[in-house]
Amino acid sequence: MENENLLAIAKEYGSPVYVYDSSKIISQYNRLSKAFQKVKRLKLNYAVKALSNIAILKLMNSLGAGLDTVSIQEVQLGLKAGVNPNDIIFTPNGVSLEEIESVSALGVQINIDNLSILEQFGTKHPNVPVCIRINPHVLAGGNSKISVGHIDSKFGISIHQIPHILRIVENTGMNINGIHMHTGSDILDIEVFLYASEILFDTAKHFKNLDFIDFGSGFKVPYKAGDIETNIEEFGTKLTKRFNDFCKEYGKELTLGFEPGKFLVSDAGYFLAKVNVVKQTTSTVFAGIDTGFNHLIRPMFYNSHHEIINISNPNGKERFYSVVGYICETDTFATNRRISEIKESDILAFKNAGAYCFSMTSNYNSRYRPAEVLWHEGKAHLIRKRETFEDLIKNQVDLDIFNEIEESIS
Ligand SMILES: *Cc1c(COP(=O)(O)O)cnc(C)c1O
Repeated sequence: MENENLLAIAKEYGSPVYVYDSSKIISQYNRLSKAFQKVKRLKLNYAVKALSNIAILKLMNSLGAGLDTVSIQEVQLGLKAGVNPNDIIFTPNGVSLEEIESVSALGVQINIDNLSILEQFGTKHPNVPVCIRINPHVLAGGNSKISVGHIDSKFGISIHQIPHILRIVENTGMNINGIHMHTGSDILDIEVFLYASEILFDTAKHFKNLDFIDFGSGFKVPYKAGDIETNIEEFGTKLTKRFNDFCKEYGKELTLGFEPGKFLVSDAGYFLAKVNVVKQTTSTVFAGIDTGFNHLIRPMFYNSHHEIINISNPNGKERFYSVVGYICETDTFATNRRISEIKESDILAFKNAGAYCFSMTSNYNSRYRPAEVLWHEGKAHLIRKRETFEDLIKNQVDLDIFNEIEESIS
């Protein structure tokens, strides 16, 4: 998007505001589909938790994507967006049997990641096809908070417990129609992913009625110059060949599934904030902006790097700034970052603000969540209004029982 477009949006809808460029989402979707075009049955399920606005879910649906969901509420959002329940997979971790049953009753594919629920669900609903989430114990590297395939991980059923799975399947007579893994978001090395895939293929051979194998996600997106990006094209070529060979071996044309979140939406997003104050201390120049980790938690939570550009003065002389939020505790977006000269009231744009940004916002410090805007074919569309004071208090229950305290102390 051009700086002028972003500035116009900040002017019209106020700041802070999230903006998503639909053309970026579409091109990423097409890029992934193309990398796997030689797979006969490919299913890309967008991971809703990355960015769950209904307009985004509708866009994904129109592209032919299904949805990967982790809560019944995400399923409900998907249904509200008009997605067919058959195109939704439910891959929760640590949710109750009741929630899984409720989602299953909606016609959504269930993916189970622990032996206890597998046995309970299989006993009560032996006729409902179930996918199993396997943990292949391949450490995806990167941030320990987002690597979910290692040996101590709470995700998936360990490959060392396959005999337990098989016993449960046999005892309950349940039907396993899919095998799944999701090893985390930071796979840099295609060979590591292919190695994990071999473990999945080995596991798949134990089940005779599979329809699909779901390889989760793990596509790395560059956040700054020099970051490694998963080479999707090379990965597509290699996994396609291996998958097609496996299908021959298995004797059936299976569906190959992925559940990308970040890959589809990260780069499409911009977060725009206004500079409230430029504060020069003895060692640092702070740019204090009209937002905080309540609206973009990734830098504080994961140490994530987001590029920041001063779109009000893109060609100014570069200086060093620490960009900080307005939350009353340490709230740092960037430290000593080279940014073109900042004046108060300038608009800063955070890049890669599509995935895990709005969806992790909160009302901390009693601030309103920002507005969201979709940029589609050269036009801005408001897809979520900024919250108001009403939103802050709408579920609060105002009590009328403190008069006595007041009376007793007076
Ligand atoms: C979060 C999640 C994803 C998406 O991960 P990205 O890194 O955003 O691509 C995929 N599958 C499951 C089960 C997830 O929990």
